[in-house]
Amino acid sequence: MAKILIVEDNALNIKLFCDLLAAHGHEPEAVTDSRKALDAARTFGPDLVITDIQLPHVSGLDLIRLIRKDEQLADVPIMAVTAYSARGDEERIRAAGAQAYVSKPISVVRFAEAVDELLKNGHDRPDQTKSADEPEIDNPESQANETDDGPGPGETGGEEI
Ligand code: MN
Repeated sequence: MAKILIVEDNALNIKLFCDLLAAHGHEPEAVTDSRKALDAARTFGPDLVITDIQLPHVSGLDLIRLIRKDEQLADVPIMAVTAYSARGDEERIRAAGAQAYVSKPISVVRFAEAVDELLKNGHDRPDQTKSADEPEIDNPESQANETDDGPGPGETGGEEI
């Protein structure tokens, strides 16, 4: 069992990630406000941080850099989750200090594999998590994933960039 801090502003994704991690026997904790993420991480002492990239206030990239510079947290593996996968994004995310990168909408299998890899191997492991060619898993909860096409049914707003 591992302590995993999730930094994500989308409530449905938080639920999806927390449910997935709990189902794998982990102890997830979620922070929605990235301005509070560093303090939450220091208090929680996570074995892994999973952060969204598109976050209001402090972006995921900036948060990754802050964690890398933090004396207490510098060695904690970080997995980035992003709805955007423009050319060069993965390089920027890795340069900031994340060890793994998963695109939304996530494949639940890929997500779980990436978590396992990072918990086993920390940040010395070459990337095995890119999921661009992965088939989508047919999962009713995948509706919880953010899309870039504007607000979905029942949502009040789109992604904050
Ligand atoms: Mn977001």
